[in-house]
Amino acid sequence: MLNDSIFSAALSRRDFMKTITTLTAAMGLPAAFAPQVAAAAEGDKRPPVIWLHFQECTGCSESLLRSSHPDLVAILLDTINLEYQETIMAGAGLQAEEALETAHEKYAGEYLLVVEGAVPLLDDGGCCKIGGLSAQESLQKLATDAFAVVCMGTCASIGGIVTAQPNPTKAVSVASLVNDKPVINLPGCPPNPYNLPATILYLLTFGKLPELDSQNRPKFAYGRLVHDHCERRSHFDAGRFAKAFGHETHALGYCLYELGCKGPVTHANCPELRFNDGTAWPISIGHPCIGCTEHVAFNTAVSDKAAIVDPASPSWFPPTNMKPAGKPASVASALGVGVALGGALGYAAGRGQSLPDGDEQQEEHRDE
Ligand code: SF4
Repeated sequence: MLNDSIFSAALSRRDFMKTITTLTAAMGLPAAFAPQVAAAAEGDKRPPVIWLHFQECTGCSESLLRSSHPDLVAILLDTINLEYQETIMAGAGLQAEEALETAHEKYAGEYLLVVEGAVPLLDDGGCCKIGGLSAQESLQKLATDAFAVVCMGTCASIGGIVTAQPNPTKAVSVASLVNDKPVINLPGCPPNPYNLPATILYLLTFGKLPELDSQNRPKFAYGRLVHDHCERRSHFDAGRFAKAFGHETHALGYCLYELGCKGPVTHANCPELRFNDGTAWPISIGHPCIGCTEHVAFNTAVSDKAAIVDPASPSWFPPTNMKPAGKPASVASALGVGVALGGALGYAAGRGQSLPDGDEQQEEHRDE
């Protein structure tokens, strides 16, 4: 049963298990692990967390804590012992500083340090001071006694929009300043709300940090390309591209590559988990992925096309072999992408419609 916490008291067992099962899937685990993850969430072990905000917009906290994920937030706040978080704590000024100092001393060596925002270095960090300390001083002081550091969002993880050229505050990522502690990066602008609770629950369930990639991101969340799980992928494989925002090809839900989609070079779990309680994500509402979990974001124009490294579909995809009856498939190469024009024709024929301009565009690419 759920413990008698103040946050999850209103959660039914069914809702609790539903969210735990989603979190288990977010960790890349089979549903059979859900009882083990639930036991970890309900256990007495509640890791102390100190959560700092530096140069950022607080969008990462907002997207996690807003009410569209009430069950997720309830479980998160029950699973951890949140000692300090400027956005939601009641205290302010000296009271808040005392709370931070107390938590720092009491839980030295045990607490998880969550950092949101990049660290500005200009003028000895004078453009971001909290409680008399610059962001850099505050980070160094608190990271020293942390068990591990979790960078929440792109700004803390890799610099993000704050460090975009000309980087007026000479900001840097957290990882570039912390060398003696495990640093887990959860980039995203904002990161998917499930990624932080999933990381903490992984730690509690297995007693170790999740496996990380070369950029210190949990592989369970950042191990695959957006492009490989995108609902528009069949349009990409068949060469159907949205030509312009508002164009018929856009309204038909075609692939957004030509509008600058960075999905082919972006590692994130947005297509699987989505946002707003799993209802939507940028590509589902017609906006190209801007690659916010990667260095490509914020120093690259949204309209710039991503370099396609491997145009082939992942091996687990069914073959793209749509073709008009009685004719061989016409496979061509466009923009380095394998385009099956026959597939587009077959698709249009199947829907009983003529090809819109976007498909004429395929022919143009085919000739290139
Ligand atoms: Fe989806 Fe973008 Fe890939 Fe097209 S290019 S399939 S919209 S991720």
